Amino acid sequence: MLKVIVLLWKTARKPVISAKNLSTNANVALNAAIFAVLTTENCTALSASPSLLAQMINDDYLMGLALAEAKKAFQKGETPVGAILVLEDRIIASAHNRKESTNDPTAHAELIVMRKGAEMAHDWRLTDAVLYVTKEPCIMCAGAMINARLGKLVFGCTDDRFGAVNSRYQLLHDPGLNHRVRVLSGVLEHECADILKKFFNMRR
Ligand SMILES: [Zn+2]
Repeated sequence: MLKVIVLLWKTARKPVISAKNLSTNANVALNAAIFAVLTTENCTALSASPSLLAQMINDDYLMGLALAEAKKAFQKGETPVGAILVLEDRIIASAHNRKESTNDPTAHAELIVMRKGAEMAHDWRLTDAVLYVTKEPCIMCAGAMINARLGKLVFGCTDDRFGAVNSRYQLLHDPGLNHRVRVLSGVLEHECADILKKFFNMRR
């Protein structure tokens, strides 16, 4: 698999690519490589040339991967929210909501990637990790992020009713807590909101 990634990179490398100026070919190639890796049975980490991947991957791109997870949830009749976890320029976990299929009220995408990520990192502290999720996290997930000492959260659209980061509550900005998570919001905001709107419109 690593050879495939390198080959795809070499093929798509003209002209020189920066994170802010991905060529279409590079985007397609990297997309194919990442999805090939993510679809392996144990969600193998992307370990090939981390510095190279760091140049190519940006917030929009990574949120696009989280959005792809949300689409999987949509197809299964689950609330379409997806997440990925990045550690040291490697994608170490990806997941979508699985509450309905597992009858597990805690099976939110964010919690699943944090569990998987902590297991892969052999450390419950995710201080150096960045979590990308398509929707603003709820109270439960925001609480878990504090417990995990998550380094940074990047989310797509807001959740006015249940959002616990910027909307209904501001848990991650509470100066009284023992850990502060850095937050970036609004990445692919419209795409992330659209899939939720489509889902809830269909269920009405
Ligand atoms: Zn949640």
